[in-house]
Amino acid sequence: MSSQVYRSTRSSQPEELSFEDVVMTGLAPDGGLYLPSSIPQLPSNFTETWKDLSFNELAFEILRLYINELEIPSDDLKDLIKRSYATFRSDEVTPIKKLDDNLHILELFHGPTYAFKDVALQFVGNLFEYFLVRCNNKKKEGEPRDIITVVGATSGDTGSAAIYGLRGKKDVSVFILYPTGRISPIQEEQMTTVEDANVHTLSVNGTFDDCQDIVKSIFGDKEFNDKYHVGAVNSINWARILAQQTYYFYSYFQLQKQLGGNSKVRFVVPSGNFGDILAGYYAYKMGLPVDKLIIATNENDILDRFMKSGEYAKQQEVGVKVTYSPAMDILISSNFERLLWYLIRDNVANGNDEKAGEILSGWMKELKENGKFTAPQEVVEKARVVFDSDRVSNEDTIKTIKEVYSNNPEKYIIDPHTAIGVKTSYRFIEKEPKAEYISLSTAHPAKFSEVVNKALESFDGYSFEKDVLPAELKALSTKEKRIKLIDEPSIEKVKQAIKDELKF
Ligand SMILES: *Cc1c(COP(=O)(O)O)cnc(C)c1O
Repeated sequence: MSSQVYRSTRSSQPEELSFEDVVMTGLAPDGGLYLPSSIPQLPSNFTETWKDLSFNELAFEILRLYINELEIPSDDLKDLIKRSYATFRSDEVTPIKKLDDNLHILELFHGPTYAFKDVALQFVGNLFEYFLVRCNNKKKEGEPRDIITVVGATSGDTGSAAIYGLRGKKDVSVFILYPTGRISPIQEEQMTTVEDANVHTLSVNGTFDDCQDIVKSIFGDKEFNDKYHVGAVNSINWARILAQQTYYFYSYFQLQKQLGGNSKVRFVVPSGNFGDILAGYYAYKMGLPVDKLIIATNENDILDRFMKSGEYAKQQEVGVKVTYSPAMDILISSNFERLLWYLIRDNVANGNDEKAGEILSGWMKELKENGKFTAPQEVVEKARVVFDSDRVSNEDTIKTIKEVYSNNPEKYIIDPHTAIGVKTSYRFIEKEPKAEYISLSTAHPAKFSEVVNKALESFDGYSFEKDVLPAELKALSTKEKRIKLIDEPSIEKVKQAIKDELKF
């Protein structure tokens, strides 16, 4: 039985945190990210014993290796998993679809908000509730209950996945801020038509950056925090990385069964904050026979530049580029720090956890002060053992949506994020045709209607309503919206709105 403990990437002290600690805290107080210093190994016969498991059964086996039985008993863990994936529209949860020779699409968008973040956030929502309720059940009559008030800002894509993960959860409230008039109608409808009383959407008359700044100052407000226990579900939460590991295993087994053999498997992952592909790295380190993990970036290409040069540079002066794949529009990839920690520990710090934390802290300080650092050659070379990368332009994003549509007999339609991965896959298939490629599809095309229509509107017979828009999303437009308007980007007004809603 595992006895997994966790530590912060920036700590130079011994640490033995529990899974519950790291999930409920999110970001470590020293600014680092939590991770398991030892990555569990797969049972030696896993290819036989795991190959026919369902998605949920596989999730259980994997999560069990990272979460101690004493922290979450097996029956409870099974129940959490079952409830998390019962909301998906596909029995397989994350099915694969053959698109072309060597190319298989891993459809991660069958969750309630039609985006891959559901795979993690459906589970995280249940986990928050589980830990809070368990703690509250131990309290004496009259003692105040533990609560959490999740506050987040969204430019459209992540807010809805967070809301659907947390809706109706006991002792949890969620407030999502978004810039008025600057998110797409479907995104606004998804967030504002949720009826659960614990969900609140604040439409702020300002920009996305204004919303983010307000959230940051609320996090820094000690008095407010002590009272409302402000929490986050952003992409650095360890539970999200953990939950995303299942589909690497599941799709690997599905593919091997379909092809009836021992194919060399490569994963291609549209990447922004490096959370999705990092889950693949854990799967690989656990012992899943992955040949390559290929990072596919849009024009915000810090990861591709790092893989090619070893320099990790924020390019603040260039700024974040607005692309057709907005969920990947970042300057730095927050989860990359976790990969760096393992690479430093095993190649620079002689396997010493504390030393690795010390070195990584130095690099992060350099990044903060100078906007960049350069990793030693041995670190970059070790990263290249399993990672490779490429970058896809806006123009090629559109072209790829067109090509997939016109070349596929079923006229398969992909979203712009998926297109970044598919284009990268085609480039790699040309270089290495003796491998099978699993290209991760991170969103349903209906979520990015503007770009999809731009690519496909010139095709005879194409219709967004008929070919793309699912009935469930279409029906949202007739539902009543619940929105609280905040007429200026004011921290005080947002705090007041939260107080008014929570009524204490
Ligand atoms: C968040 C997101 C990504 C990027 O995932 P990371 O874990 O940040 O690398 C890609 N596509 C879509 C649609 C997303 O929402």
